Amino acid sequence: MPCFGRTTKSGRYTPTRGSIDKSPSISVTESRRDGIPAAPRSVSMESVEKHAKTPEEIETIKRAVKENEFLRNILNDEQIEQVAEAMFTQEVEENETIVRQGDEGNQMYVSQTGIYWIVINHKKIRSFSHPTVFGELAILYKAKRLATIKAITKGKVWVIKRDTYQKILIQNARTQEDELITFLKKVPNVNKLPEEKLQTLIKIFKTEFFTPDTVIVREGEIGDKFYIIRVGFASVSKQVDGKVADLVKGDFFGERALFEANDKRQATVIAQNPGAECLTLSRTQFLEYFDSNVFTIPAVENSITFSPLPEDGDIKNLKLDDLTRHATLGVGGFGRVELVYHKENKNLTFALKYLKKVDVVQQNQIPHAYNEKDIQIKCNSIFIVRLYKTFKDQKYLYFLMEPCLGGDLWTLMGKQGKARKFTEPAARFYTACVVEAFAYLHDRKCVYRDLKPENLLIDARGYLKLTDFGFAKSIGTRQTYTFAGTPEYVAPEIIFNRGHDKSADYWALGVFIFELLSGRTPFKSNDPSHMKTYQLILRGIANVNFPKWMSNNSIELVRKLCKPIPTDRLGCLKNGANDIRKQKWFDGFDWEKLRERKLKPPVVPKLSSNLDCRNFETYRPDDDIPPDDLDVWDNNF
Ligand code: AMP
Repeated sequence: MPCFGRTTKSGRYTPTRGSIDKSPSISVTESRRDGIPAAPRSVSMESVEKHAKTPEEIETIKRAVKENEFLRNILNDEQIEQVAEAMFTQEVEENETIVRQGDEGNQMYVSQTGIYWIVINHKKIRSFSHPTVFGELAILYKAKRLATIKAITKGKVWVIKRDTYQKILIQNARTQEDELITFLKKVPNVNKLPEEKLQTLIKIFKTEFFTPDTVIVREGEIGDKFYIIRVGFASVSKQVDGKVADLVKGDFFGERALFEANDKRQATVIAQNPGAECLTLSRTQFLEYFDSNVFTIPAVENSITFSPLPEDGDIKNLKLDDLTRHATLGVGGFGRVELVYHKENKNLTFALKYLKKVDVVQQNQIPHAYNEKDIQIKCNSIFIVRLYKTFKDQKYLYFLMEPCLGGDLWTLMGKQGKARKFTEPAARFYTACVVEAFAYLHDRKCVYRDLKPENLLIDARGYLKLTDFGFAKSIGTRQTYTFAGTPEYVAPEIIFNRGHDKSADYWALGVFIFELLSGRTPFKSNDPSHMKTYQLILRGIANVNFPKWMSNNSIELVRKLCKPIPTDRLGCLKNGANDIRKQKWFDGFDWEKLRERKLKPPVVPKLSSNLDCRNFETYRPDDDIPPDDLDVWDNNF
């Protein structure tokens, strides 16, 4: 028990949130959804070791990967080749268990020779001898094995560790990014753009291939596109001078189309043998992300930062001993949240979350605990739960927060009847609160990465506030790569491991609106491994049936937020969150009044005092007292 008080309430026991790591058989419908605790350590960037193989062995691996429904959707040919080269061999003996149901996995396998059983819950499901991929979820994150794979005969398997797989994908993405930046730094005017804008620019190029002798641009015609040669060759000629230049990788042409409308091409460019693969950007696309005067006005970097929070005398001097426990508000993946009050002033109440330090260490959650502290404590928005202060002792880390006595949005959905859905006006109000919270964070170059009703609390007035910053990250201008989020809410680029940024939050916003209006998420499946969910996410929103009661405007908004290409998503263009605020679904919605807290929320919680916990479950006291953790990892807490 933490030292600040005694349990005064007990009753029906509510288990901690159903975690995919805890039980493969949870019902996705009823349980709160845990985020995937991604391996947060950074992947080293030294080059990936290749293991010698015969061409036939490489082919076997490649074929097995391409036959795997999940992998063939997330890896391109080049990546499959690199994965095949990086796999190492392992001999297996008759009766050897290669992966065991329930164990945490960190490697993926391809069988080369031998016969194997798939065993689930001690029952032999089927055998296979054909070269097959198994344990593939482990390449995304540390997940429990859902089946046992046992060798019936002696055999040989190929193995790749998650770290190696992620290194391959991250290196691929970084190399491509660096190459593009190098190309752009050669283009006059473009090279004067600040880093932040160059990073946006490289994300919006398209790839086009021109077969030999194709005229890519013609002298005298009006140009609308800028080209960079990525692979191959082209020639430049002028009517008067004939051929004037040869273009190779990294050369560019047509850049004036970005600077001026209706610019006439000065020369003709023709693709040469074996063709030219170009990165292209049209002026129209360009103007969706940049103002037309971006090259002429001096660059000003986005300078919005976290403004220091006002010093609050009461809180500044507050110590853990000053707090008295009233009741438990909730139980999370790693700890509990208690409603506490100041022992000398019952009107001064807080939500005090405490995490067991041994759990934080054991589950590799130290970086997440620091994220939670470092980002949330700087946030000063009425749409984000205030984190005032943190404390620590030998056993726990503590987060002193603003209490939100209306409960969480997930619980409120449960109170909307069996369908668990809100009316359009209610969903609009709650979505608007999230848009404001996201705009605040994104302006400060932070991504949130775990949007879901479970992480939104309702304050005494009925307004929503974002909390649980364990997956939030300060990303600056570059992208981030580690898998983070809750399966039903993750964006395709997170599954692809291609790097993600605020666009992943806007994808999640589309999923969230769908859930509020229909009571379920669009890519939900009951597959406990979440593989099916990931496949549905990769198939995209175009394949989702919207419930007939959803309005056209809400469907249009969800589709624009869940676009497969991250830079195409609403919220990611030059007007940022304003593009969302201006959508038809929000016609007539008063954003100013929302920010002034003058709009009437859909539900105003019934509360008789600031210690009224009627909107929360009743929890048994936590009898599990953890051992001391005297390590110094929490020095900065
Ligand atoms: P967490 O560990 O952050 O996931 O929190 C677990 C549960 O505690 C949440 O689902 C809420 O029901 C409750 N809770 C967390 N923070 C607060 C807060 N600031 N005010 C009221 N309840 C909270």
